Amino acid sequence: MNMSENPSKPAVEAVGLTKIYGSGATEIVAMREVSLRLEPGEVIALLGPSGSGKSTLLTALGLINPPTAGRVAIGGVLVLEGDRALTDLAAFRRQHIGFVFQKANLIPFLNAVQNVQIAMEINDAPPRLARRRAMELLGYLGVMDCANRLPDTLSGGQQQRVAVARALANEPGLILADEPTAALDGARGLQVMELFSKVAHECGAGVIVVTHDHRALDVFDRVLQMEDGRVWPAEKMSFPSEYAGPIMTHASSCSFSNVQVFDHPAASPCLALKL
Ligand code: ADP
Repeated sequence: MNMSENPSKPAVEAVGLTKIYGSGATEIVAMREVSLRLEPGEVIALLGPSGSGKSTLLTALGLINPPTAGRVAIGGVLVLEGDRALTDLAAFRRQHIGFVFQKANLIPFLNAVQNVQIAMEINDAPPRLARRRAMELLGYLGVMDCANRLPDTLSGGQQQRVAVARALANEPGLILADEPTAALDGARGLQVMELFSKVAHECGAGVIVVTHDHRALDVFDRVLQMEDGRVWPAEKMSFPSEYAGPIMTHASSCSFSNVQVFDHPAASPCLALKL
């Protein structure tokens, strides 16, 4: 199975995203003309100090917190123009975007497989099909033996794997993760980061991971840095003059012509999931 809904279209493409909170004396510009493009099968890390705008960017791409200006297209579908929704955002989000947070946020009274299954049933999947796919996802993520256990009997790493399974449940083309390894020790954190890479490369999803964990950066195809509302390639942190602007500023130039883009492996079918 290749989860990329349209492998020829970017998993997400954002152009000129600006977010202003408040007004007048209390105005805060949290995001300044951010543009980025993520291909299916690509996994990128987003670094940056606290307050630099990472959550604002992630929640704008996740259609949770619309920008003040700019455009967001997901899987080739333009869904946001500024704060104007061009579709039913909640429904679009449920079907096309998977989220993973710092804590697994599993429903405590449902076991692991039910936690994954319910994400599909909310989208009207028949229960038997949802259960079968949930079991396959748990197997794919190495936690099949946890299927019948309640979340509080699982380790933090196991819970996060179940959360990744839940994020994959509806075969999203885009997965957004906000500090998913913050609550894990180094080894478990690295394992979870490797899972994101596996999910992107094998299933064709585009994955963005906000992280402070510099130990795991090798698993990413690209590393971006956010600072004062702007996004830069992390390896250019000295900001030489030729990088004196956001990554892309024009809708017509939606390629990383002015930054280094690492090759990413072509999305390959997700062999483990024959659905
Ligand atoms: P990060 O995720 O990198 O810590 P955020 O996106 O949370 O950064 O915040 C970027 C800036 O926007 C900060 O100055 C923060 O205080 C401000 N900010 C975030 N959310 C709000 C909000 N709802 N109202 C006002 N200011 C906010």
